[in-house]
Amino acid sequence: MKPYYPLFINGEFKDSQDKQDVINPATGEVLAEVAVAGKKEAALAIDAARAAFDKEAWGRISLARRKDLLLKISQGILDKAGDLAKLETLNTGKPIKESTFMDIPSAAKTFEYFAYNLERYLKEEVIDISTEAQSRLLREPQGVVVLFVPWNYPLLIASWKTACALAAGNTVILKPSSLTPLTVLELAKIINDAGSPKGSVNIINGSGIEIGKALCADKRVDMISFTGSNTVGRQILGYASEHVKKMIIELGGKSASIILKDADLELAVNGALCSIFLNQGQMCTAMSRLLVEEGIYDKFMDDFVDKTKRIKLGDGLDYQTQMGPLISDEQQKKVMACVETAKREGAKLLCGGKVPSAPELKNGFFFEPTVFTDAKPSMRIFQEEVFGPVVCVSKFSHIDEAIALANTSDFALASSIWTQDSSLAQDLAGRINAGIIWINTYGMFYNEVPYGGFKQSGFGKELGREGLLEYTRLKNILIDKTKDSKPLVNYWYGF
Ligand code: NAD
Repeated sequence: MKPYYPLFINGEFKDSQDKQDVINPATGEVLAEVAVAGKKEAALAIDAARAAFDKEAWGRISLARRKDLLLKISQGILDKAGDLAKLETLNTGKPIKESTFMDIPSAAKTFEYFAYNLERYLKEEVIDISTEAQSRLLREPQGVVVLFVPWNYPLLIASWKTACALAAGNTVILKPSSLTPLTVLELAKIINDAGSPKGSVNIINGSGIEIGKALCADKRVDMISFTGSNTVGRQILGYASEHVKKMIIELGGKSASIILKDADLELAVNGALCSIFLNQGQMCTAMSRLLVEEGIYDKFMDDFVDKTKRIKLGDGLDYQTQMGPLISDEQQKKVMACVETAKREGAKLLCGGKVPSAPELKNGFFFEPTVFTDAKPSMRIFQEEVFGPVVCVSKFSHIDEAIALANTSDFALASSIWTQDSSLAQDLAGRINAGIIWINTYGMFYNEVPYGGFKQSGFGKELGREGLLEYTRLKNILIDKTKDSKPLVNYWYGF
């Protein structure tokens, strides 16, 4: 019998009238049945989160208790790490090595990090403005926060958001993508077992189109933290505008990797492979544009294409698999359409570009790792996010040209630079329009430092001190310390 996952509202696991199947994208088989929240359940979740914040005063409970809860959640994830990794792979298709060594331990680490650092980051600041005036700056929670999570890193992104929101004292409504709700619904059990106060965390699976507006436009919700596509991001900005809500919005990318002629060739090739084919290229920070300097171009391309052709596709549960399936049939069709457009617009296809023909892959949503060259800035493949294993390569002869190409994008999320000249790398990093720039590496995220993009890639930060503070509001309490001279007050009276 297929496993069943209910909703988690007000500290209870609840059924709903509607149910949906969740699919394994590697086989097309049904993995589980999940309750689907409609507007009624969305309203119940808001009631619960609002009451937990206002009456139970989660926001005013001691920092020590918040720390204790986050540590228990972290340990709960670690206790189930093997099962969670397997479930994440079954539900997303990503190779088990990725979920075992990245997604799941990183999720646990995020809860632990903010447990140990919340007190330091939320500390009240006292500013002695002058001998006459002093200010107390308080970090208060925002209140009820709705967290929207995409399907590419379900548990990890849910953990980034939930850990910070809870550490800051908010109550939470967490909505996973309905394609990948399973590990997030497992998190509901972990949070419940950790003893979270009733209503402080509510986790509801459901269609964004059905309940997104109900969650975002409700006056009782104070903040929205959204990670997902630009189309939905823009809709959410609209929903939130009526009540002028605080938002964090992390959207798409079309990131460029710049490979200079003095780069360590093997490292740059491996870095480029990882930065576009990890997680089947379904990463907002995927380096989907490679800008390669003339002097290294031929050697780089030989190695890069050779290794790309040797990438092993398969079921994510197989330890030999390097690339699993895309998340859905729809995503497979979308990637195919991007490839067709690139060909039509004149980009040169070097390898991949199609659904693989191997019989053992035929029931999954696989797509071959794909490399285009001769990509021009006017082409859609150079400008639009594919969100799949498709990269376009352009040759450049001067660094200024590389910077101009990198910055010819409406997105500004990430970039990477490959060179042995560290001062040149620093100089380039300063000139590239992106929120995170990796030098001679890719994809390293640390809880200690913030992450987030500019322009169409969104605004606000996740992780680090800044990421936590996003979930707070800053209150200034100003105290006049003079006994008799009150400059403004007395002046006005006299006037
Ligand atoms: P999506 O926008 O379709 O969905 C994201 C979340 O929003 C899901 O939970 C979904 O159910 C919900 N949603 C869908 N329609 C909604 C609506 N009308 N109102 C409210 N919520 C709604 O995105 P996706 O396809 O799950 O994820 C892929 C996208 O996410 C890519 O564009 C990728 O670049 C982006 N992404 C960005 C980052 C980042 O940090 N910048 C990280 C990961 C993914």
